Parts: sequence; C-alpha cells; structure tokens
Amino acid sequence: MSGILVIAEHLRGQVRPVTLELVSVAKELGDETAVAVIANDPASLADQVDVDGVAEIVSVKVDQDEFENDVYREAVEQLISARSPEVVLVGFTVNSMGFAPALAAKLGLGFASDVFGLRRDGEDLVASRAFYGSKVNAEIGFPGHERVLLMVRPTAWPPAEGAGSAVEAQLEVTISGSQARHKDFQEAATGDVDITTADFLLSVGRGVGDKENLGQFEDLAERMGATLSVSRPLVDQGWMPNSRQVGQSGKTVKPKVYLALGISGAVQHLAGMKTSGTIIAVNTDPEAAIFNVAHYGAVADLFEVAEELDKLYA
Ligand SMILES: Cc1cc2nc3c(=O)[nH]c(=O)nc-3n(C[C@H](O)[C@H](O)[C@H](O)COP(=O)(O)OP(=O)(O)OC[C@H]3O[C@@H](n4cnc5c(N)ncnc54)[C@H](O)[C@@H]3O)c2cc1C
Repeated sequence: MSGILVIAEHLRGQVRPVTLELVSVAKELGDETAVAVIANDPASLADQVDVDGVAEIVSVKVDQDEFENDVYREAVEQLISARSPEVVLVGFTVNSMGFAPALAAKLGLGFASDVFGLRRDGEDLVASRAFYGSKVNAEIGFPGHERVLLMVRPTAWPPAEGAGSAVEAQLEVTISGSQARHKDFQEAATGDVDITTADFLLSVGRGVGDKENLGQFEDLAERMGATLSVSRPLVDQGWMPNSRQVGQSGKTVKPKVYLALGISGAVQHLAGMKTSGTIIAVNTDPEAAIFNVAHYGAVADLFEVAEELDKLYA
C-alpha cells in the first residue's frame, strides 16, 4: 500500500481549482501521486490536471457527464481496490460530501473532513481540522489505519502549478447504482456573482447599519474594481443573497485583497476568509477580532473611510 490518489473534481468541462490544491497537498507529503478523472470523457480533462507533481493520470470512463454520488462512490471504491493508495484525497466540497464519508465508513478507512493541515509524525499521518464552529483546532491521528481518506478544505493550500509529464492509465469500472441523476442545470439568478473567484472583495458587515446604505457600497465596489461580499447578518435580514455571504455557512474565499468594513470578525466569518492574501479591516472597535487576522487595520468609521475612497475612485 503506497502512494496518494487524488480524486479530481470537475464541472461542465472544467476541473475545479480544489483538484490542483489537492495535488499541492500530495506534493507536500512527497509520495507518488496519481490523479483519477472520473468522467464521461476523461481524456478531455487530462490536460487540466497534468501539473507538476502528478506522476499518473487515471482515466475512469463512466456514462455520466457530471458528478453523481453513487457513481463516484462505486468508482472510487474500485480505484482504491485496484491501486491500494495509502492516502485518498478529495475536496471538502458538496460533491465529495455525497460519497466520501459513506465510502470511508464502508471500507473502514481512517477519515477526517475539513482538513487544513497535514504532517507526518514518523510513519503516521497527522491532520489538522477545526471543531466547534472553528473555535478550536485539533490534530487527528489515525491509529490502526493503514489507509486514510481525507476531505481537504478548499483554498487551504495553493493550487499546484507548472507543466507536468504524467503518464496516462485507464481503469474500467462497473457502476450498478442509480440513486439520483441530474436532469439539467439551471443558471443562477442573473446579476449574481461568484465571490469565490474574485481577486478583490469589498466585504461589508452589520456596521453598515441599514439596507439603504448598501447601494453606496455596491457603487464603491464597482468603481474600485471589487466584488461586494457580506457577513451573514446581512443575508439573514434579506439584504443580500446568500451567494454573497462569506464564512462557515457561506462561501470560503481567498481573494488577493479582502477589505472588511464594519465586520467584527466572528470565528464563523473568519473561517471563510482568513487565508486571503491581504486583509484590510476598518472597525470603530479597536478590540474587534477582525484585527487579529488583518494585515492592515484602521480604527475608524467605515462611512468616513468610504467617503475618502469615493473621492479616490470618483
Ligand atoms: C452556525 C453558525 C454559522 C455562522 N456562519 C456565518 C458565516 O458564514 N458568515 C458570517 O459572517 N457569520 C456567520 N455566523 C454569524 C457570526 O457568528 C456573527 O454573528 C457574524 O459574523 C457577525 O457579523 P458582523 O461582523 O457583520 O456583525 P457584528 O458582529 O454585529 O459586528 C459589526 C461590527 O461593525 C462595527 N461597526 C459598527 N458601526 C461601525 C462603523 N460606523 N464603522 C466601522 N465599524 C463599525 C462594530 O464595532 C462591530 O465590530 C454564523 C453563526 C453560527 C452560529
């Protein structure tokens, strides 16, 4: 039993960024890494996962174009049986939640979800993950388990880069299940944006006070070339759609710049943005927890700061 098996995640012909982040995890562990692409046309996705650090790309052809829980559960089980990896890596994503814990339980694998750190202690793997709504972190060992399946938190590692020279292999699998099938995809409401891919987020919290004040920050964000995101109370009050929410129960983001205005920095919010490149926080409370993760901070009224930014970006 040796090596690392990464399960690629893809959607409508595009490999999801978390896949290349999993390759970075594998590189850090330093073992031979294979990436499995389970798809109707896996060859069409192979180029996207052929990055530095990948020794082998295993194409697994299935009938379905898109992710299905039962297809992945059966295909990954057969991959594990055929290749005997020591570590299986999947993203801590909605897709993987649909099959990975069930598979780990069925095969009796060592298992951890939401992993954001990994190290070896001698021969043993030790994973870090958060508990109690990110109030406490813990290290987890896997005593008595030769094989582990880890669900890795998106954005916790940088994506692997650089051209690879992986060899290609195929695995034939038999899929018998048919629990659920996608009928079609519907585009999200027009005007909605994907805050997870933005380089610059202007994020506002309850400090903005009133729904009527939000328009000012939407305008400012547009002029600054930023995307507007929010903390949860603004979504709970129906001021913004939940696609804009950053945090534990919202989106995990990692922009180059995260400008937080009037956000206190509750652990549930920090869980979604603390790995951002540069964090700038504005808050009237010098004790606000957001300052613990901010690279730059101003104890100031957010409306006064917005006024100055308005002049700069007029
Ligand atoms: C299970 C669970 C999941 C959760 N998930 C999320 C999540 O995904 N995302 C999330 O954001 N929260 C989440 N929360 C809620 C979280 O605990 C906090 O309540 C929330 O993040 C607080 O939002 P806030 O910082 O905007 O508001 P507050 O905590 O009310 O902070 C407002 C801040 O604005 C400052 N302020 C006020 N006026 C001004 C001004 N004029 N100028 C400058 N600063 C000003 C205040 O000093 C204060 O620090 C979750 C909670 C639970 C229990």
